[in-house]
Amino acid sequence: MKNKITLSNPHLSGKELDYIKQAFNTNQVSNFGENIINFEKQLEKYLGQNSNVACLSSGTAAIHLALIMAGVKNGDEVICQSMTFSASVNPIIYLGAKPIFIDSETSTWNMCPLYLEEAIIDRISRGTKPKAIVLVHLYGMPAKLEEIVAIAKKYEITLIEDAAEALGSTYKNQKCGTFADYGILSFNGNKIITTSGGGALITKSPKTKEKVLFLATQARDYAPHYQHSEIGYNYRMSNVLAGIGRAQIEVINNYVELRRSNKDFYKSIFKDLEAITVFEEPNSDYFSNHWLSCIVIESEIAGFNREDLRLNLLRSNIESRPLWKPMHLQPIFEKFPFYGGNVSEDIFKKGLCLPSGSNLTKKDKEFISKTLNSYLNS
Ligand SMILES: *Cc1c(COP(=O)(O)O)cnc(C)c1O
Repeated sequence: MKNKITLSNPHLSGKELDYIKQAFNTNQVSNFGENIINFEKQLEKYLGQNSNVACLSSGTAAIHLALIMAGVKNGDEVICQSMTFSASVNPIIYLGAKPIFIDSETSTWNMCPLYLEEAIIDRISRGTKPKAIVLVHLYGMPAKLEEIVAIAKKYEITLIEDAAEALGSTYKNQKCGTFADYGILSFNGNKIITTSGGGALITKSPKTKEKVLFLATQARDYAPHYQHSEIGYNYRMSNVLAGIGRAQIEVINNYVELRRSNKDFYKSIFKDLEAITVFEEPNSDYFSNHWLSCIVIESEIAGFNREDLRLNLLRSNIESRPLWKPMHLQPIFEKFPFYGGNVSEDIFKKGLCLPSGSNLTKKDKEFISKTLNSYLNS
């Protein structure tokens, strides 16, 4: 059988080993050295907006540290988009805080500003003002940033942008991850660029970056012996892995274009089908990296549902996956408050992510197209 076509897997540029060798040749194989300094500089330049970037061991670690920097403590409430990957929420629980989930709106699939404000007002009336908001740009689609930034400002609540899936996406030409008090990125193997595993925290303030790096390297006070007046973490990125990142960030524009062209490829396949919509930007203010190409299937019109299509693709060794199951419907999180209706639940039921790697070959696409067309015409 031919090789599996996957949803999204690492796409190496070819220069990764050069930077890794550089780390070995200079014995910079721990969490200090040229690769990490350069990777951070390149990210800062790419993101613009005077960003300061701290490279960490994962996107999850970056969210954890952003919440700590926001002052989130045991017993606090933190607002979080419900439709997301669990890593957006888990660090809230690590801190003993309580997640308050918010439904999506239909145009970007991200946090609905109306439900957000309703939740804030309700939580305040119950006597607890939320400490922070975790906003996500799902599948690379920028959220309704203007509205949400304004609400966070109005109520003076720290905003954290989970841009793990959205490196290269922009809203009104400004990069996702640079709108909020803190932004976070992920360089996990399936993301738009990778360091095999890694992440970053984005902040406007050099002082904040310094503090984040202090916390990420065991919170060691300035003293000849090991002295600690705060709890630290072992969250710094390795200089070896940062070498992978250096080679990857050099080709990001190309990778974004390739992901976006995957979306156009699926659009052409489904163009005559009323029952299937390819997920796209609501208007030209939004520019998505289309990390994953997603479709929504109206099963009553189509005569099949997303699971039928998924299983059919799987028989041809093509991976596809339902959308993120909303957090308020997850067994581990369903006991927490939720503000909204059934928007995210509905999208979850109808949606499917299709193979979207920037390394999909022409042959892969021909095979995907043939398989989809024969199913649609059967
Ligand atoms: C991947 C991802 C994360 C976590 O990043 P890791 O680097 O895997 O820890 C967080 N949030 C979202 C939305 C993600 O997709």
